Amino acid sequence: MLLSLVVPCYNEEDIIEKFYKITSQYVRENKHINDYEFVFINDGSKDRTLEKLKKINSFDKKARYVSFSRNFGKEAAIYSGLQHSKGDLIVLMDADLQHPPYLLEEMSRKIVEESYDSVGAVRADRKGENKIRAYLSKKFYTFINSISDVKMEANSTDYRMMTRQFVDSVLSLSEYNRFTKGIFSWVGYNNATIKYENVERELGESKWNFFKLLKYSMEGIISFSTVPLMISSLLGFLLCFFSILIFLIFIIKYFVFGEIVKGFLTLICSIFLLGGVQLLSIGVLGQYLSKAYLEVKNRPVYIVKESSDINEKNKKYI
Ligand code: UDP
Ligand code: MG
Repeated sequence: MLLSLVVPCYNEEDIIEKFYKITSQYVRENKHINDYEFVFINDGSKDRTLEKLKKINSFDKKARYVSFSRNFGKEAAIYSGLQHSKGDLIVLMDADLQHPPYLLEEMSRKIVEESYDSVGAVRADRKGENKIRAYLSKKFYTFINSISDVKMEANSTDYRMMTRQFVDSVLSLSEYNRFTKGIFSWVGYNNATIKYENVERELGESKWNFFKLLKYSMEGIISFSTVPLMISSLLGFLLCFFSILIFLIFIIKYFVFGEIVKGFLTLICSIFLLGGVQLLSIGVLGQYLSKAYLEVKNRPVYIVKESSDINEKNKKYI
């Protein structure tokens, strides 16, 4: 069994060597694994992460790296890492040691002995994490599970070990807007989960802020559900229906009962309401359209500037 460890890295100079040391130790002691390789993806780091990766590669050729021409985001790094991996088993890990390497033993056991196709790590709690972030994240999972066909577990992470077949299926989804957690669920297969205690980041800092997370969750919803589009159509339909009804009532009032209908305020209110609903619906439509637009452009998900696999002389992959 060859294990590939896919590790996206963005500005991780403080911790990357420690990560490599500790994790490779665990992998060497793992009885289910005969051989290993690291596939580090340097996602356009602005610090000395790449130099550190080169240093690790200089004494351990099993620690390969791929370096992007700029920061393409974690999703792109994951995609590239999976593409460059050669193992029979592949595990996706963060570089900051928040994904505890002692779980690798249990993950590989579940796949090798219990024939699972993938094993995902789920945080048992969110200790030490920002309360608002934890709350919003929980709400996001409830929401997306209620409007999407694919089910995603709350507190799930990207820490997951997979078989080659599972990874090939994940890679067969070559979309530009990637929401990997959804893709993992979408491909199906027999999946196990392991719970672990949340670990706080020791060194360096989290790359996520509120707006990045908001964008990420929007990505998830738009990639895996068309319910928002349906809601806006339904809203439009209901509004039309009630407007016609009210119009009929007013006509009857005027012609049958001779009442003159007053209501400047109602008029203003309904104009504002309609305007709001229209703009909202156009906005929702626009979100889907913009994703489709990017998809149609068919741009590459990432661009590699250099890697440990490229023979610099003739620029050929070896
Ligand atoms: N990461 C990346 N590209 C980015 C942002 C993050 O490759 O644009 C990597 C980062 O180096 C780390 C992992 O994704 O290995 C998780 O990032 P982080 O620890 O900041 O996220 P958190 O643990 O706070 O969710
Ligand atoms: Mg982290």
